[in-house]
Amino acid sequence: MTISSVLSPTPSYPVRAPRRAEATAAPAGPADAVSLSAGPAEVPKARSLAATGQATAEAAAGAPLRMLLIGPPGSGKGTQANIVKRFFHPDHISTGQILRDNIAQGTELGKQAEPYVKQGVLVPDSIMLPMVDKRLEETDSFVLDGFPRSKAQAEHLDATLARLGKPLTCVSNLDVSDATVTKRLLERGRPDDTPEIIAERLRIYHDQTEPVIAHYQAQGLLDQIPAEGKVPEVGYNLILSLNRRQRED
Ligand code: AMP
Repeated sequence: MTISSVLSPTPSYPVRAPRRAEATAAPAGPADAVSLSAGPAEVPKARSLAATGQATAEAAAGAPLRMLLIGPPGSGKGTQANIVKRFFHPDHISTGQILRDNIAQGTELGKQAEPYVKQGVLVPDSIMLPMVDKRLEETDSFVLDGFPRSKAQAEHLDATLARLGKPLTCVSNLDVSDATVTKRLLERGRPDDTPEIIAERLRIYHDQTEPVIAHYQAQGLLDQIPAEGKVPEVGYNLILSLNRRQRED
């Protein structure tokens, strides 16, 4: 499998459902999960994604992925992080999930964060920054999802990674409209997915988080990933862009 065959616009395989033997032989990747939820029209995409992962694994050997996944609430960061994880095997650090776990377990951190998470506003940096620093100290390869959410958090992150000698390899922005994410979040129905809280989270996203995109664009690290489409399509474009980045390093 060569990179050029993966990037080729003409599929190099017949368009049909994979046989069991082929499915077993496929590299560890999201193809199975994708195929389960995908309609017939998406199967070729899922197969392309598996092929992309194979090339990715070859290209990425020895180069630790250290990436940020940014995008508005409902842009699919968690879902796409899981796809990245299956191809590149980074640690998945989701700040929202860490906070929800702490809230569920009733820890001190959870008690402090809960009122902010409930209202859909940013948890103060005095709580967030030490929490993220600790996770970053424990890992060499990561996909960070949900952080940084402000210019101040981005600057802190840059300083932490410089101190740890673990520079970022790429920043992927999931580019999707407010209308699409609002629809998705209402369907998802988490406790903070009510119309009022979604509106507040989007307002905060545009006001505070969007400047982070320009911050990393200026560092030459940013890739825009169109994210209006279905999971396999977005994942395919994301894995391709990471593959390119990892090959540049
Ligand atoms: P998420 O799962 O990323 O949508 O995050 C859920 C909630 O956790 C957010 O609405 C915030 O209240 C809080 N949160 C997650 N990440 C951060 C962060 N980097 N800074 C401040 N608050 C955060």
